[in-house]
Amino acid sequence: MIGSVKGTRDLLPPETRVWGRVEETAREVFALHGFEEVRTPVLEPTELFVRTVGEATDIVHKEMYTFVDRGGRSVTLRPENTAGVARALVEHGLVQAAGVRKLWYAGPQFRYERPQKGRYREFRQIGAEVLGAADAATDAELLVMLFDFLGRLGFTGLAVSLNSVGTQECRPAFVEALRAYLEPFAGRMGDDDLRRLKDNPLRVLDTKDPAVKEVLPGAPQMVDHLDPASRAHHEELLALLSDAAIPFRIEPRLVRGLDYYTRTVFEVTAGGLGAQDALLGGGRYDRLVSDLGGPRTPGIGFAIGEDRLVDVLPQAFREEALASFAPVALVAIEPADRPSALALARTLRAAGISVDLDPAGKGPGAALKAAGKRGCRRAVLLGQREREAGTAVVKDLVERTQAEVPQAELTAYLKG
Ligand code: AMP
Repeated sequence: MIGSVKGTRDLLPPETRVWGRVEETAREVFALHGFEEVRTPVLEPTELFVRTVGEATDIVHKEMYTFVDRGGRSVTLRPENTAGVARALVEHGLVQAAGVRKLWYAGPQFRYERPQKGRYREFRQIGAEVLGAADAATDAELLVMLFDFLGRLGFTGLAVSLNSVGTQECRPAFVEALRAYLEPFAGRMGDDDLRRLKDNPLRVLDTKDPAVKEVLPGAPQMVDHLDPASRAHHEELLALLSDAAIPFRIEPRLVRGLDYYTRTVFEVTAGGLGAQDALLGGGRYDRLVSDLGGPRTPGIGFAIGEDRLVDVLPQAFREEALASFAPVALVAIEPADRPSALALARTLRAAGISVDLDPAGKGPGAALKAAGKRGCRRAVLLGQREREAGTAVVKDLVERTQAEVPQAELTAYLKG
């Protein structure tokens, strides 16, 4: 037997019904907010992520699926989707056009992480990006959209964790202050944090090492080093969120593990999820497009971990999604009944009823059992007697009841 690659998994029915409903809901809500779908390649030039996500990040440093293709190019399975979206917009000249672009995506991402519960090497993200708008109102609107989406999935107790990481201009002074604070603690750091301390001290704030975490509460805070414009942006966002009744808390050490962020960074958490309560992360990236050779174009976006989202999905949404697939099994009793069954299936499908036409010949007993296993909740049986009477027998496989219904009334009966 050939198994799947470590850290990847198959998503199978009926679970795929849940994934499908989540994605349909995303499409619906994002469209209501004026977002259109974008699909970018899974495979990108390695350089794209080195330049944007950043060399000192864990993602680029040790988690990328990078290989040299047969043409000698270094390519990488995308570890995230924002860089790809920005690349595509620059490549197609779509950020030159004046105005705001609102795009969303859903798809697999790849990171060579240690597989553990909820962390995979192939995982899926649903995300959205707004390009061409720099104001705090755009940040607020994006968060409002997220609350709308997560609310429709049934999540409660939602809150935004928020910070500002400033700009490339004001950050260096903060980074040096942070380095000066952290250096005396180098003795308690492992190789990873020592490397971060040297290359990009900001990344030490992401540490998972309890001994290093211990000293972070005393560290200098970015919010105290913001330039006036970044501070005004941050404060305006807080005011807008208050107005919109979006609960938030300021997390002075939230930096998120990607280097391209400027100003706003955030996570959204839901109630009742325990320590790992973040459903998504995001932030503003006002330099990303220009770093990729495009015109100066501010942007902001988020990425939801779909695996995690589905894992902690409220029960009511999950159950509704599972129940959403319930075709009617159409069983021809004898091979001679098959042509009539085919014709009846076409009529029902044309009326919008999902029909699973059973191969004839198994005998009704076996056919009904198999239909139940496939998730059918009702069956329509057609035999010689029904054909002659112009009727069909409808069986409810759950309630174990049955009724003989004239074929002319079957559509209405099944829809009722
Ligand atoms: P990031 O792209 O690192 O900002 O992460 C955004 C979201 O993607 C996180 O909140 C996680 O839910 C999800 N995520 C990131 N890495 C993984 C992974 N290896 N497996 C599953 N979900 C992930």
